[in-house]
Amino acid sequence: MNKKSCTICKKLGEECEVGYLIPLPGEKGEEYKDLPKEFYKLEKLDSDLEPYFKSQYEPMDLLICHKCDNYYHYRERTPGGSEDAMRTYVYQTVERIDKKELKKLLKSALKEIKREWWGKNYKKDIPKVKAAAEKLLEELK
Ligand SMILES: [Zn+2]
Repeated sequence: MNKKSCTICKKLGEECEVGYLIPLPGEKGEEYKDLPKEFYKLEKLDSDLEPYFKSQYEPMDLLICHKCDNYYHYRERTPGGSEDAMRTYVYQTVERIDKKELKKLLKSALKEIKREWWGKNYKKDIPKVKAAAEKLLEELK
């Protein structure tokens, strides 16, 4: 399918971001803002990479649109309140990436899992993450 005419990707665009303020207890808060429903039609590139994504300071994910093979980089940020420390914002960003960027992210995953702190905390996940990242890199060649 043509990448430009894919209904899912058309709606998501190059980048899509939503921010949401978590209400304080007893507060009504604002209406919850979610990413477009098309976002939920994207699929995980490889769930074996999950331990690596979860270990990141900002949780992330790598997704694919199976209709047209576009790749996406999803990130979640909860910046600490500089204006009001009690407040927590959650930002969700989904960005379309090309093969080159995807390779870069997979390579940095392979690098990071070799680090000592990763080995300490996620020892059992290393073979799984390594195999998944290597397999994807091979497929992307
Ligand atoms: Zn698509």
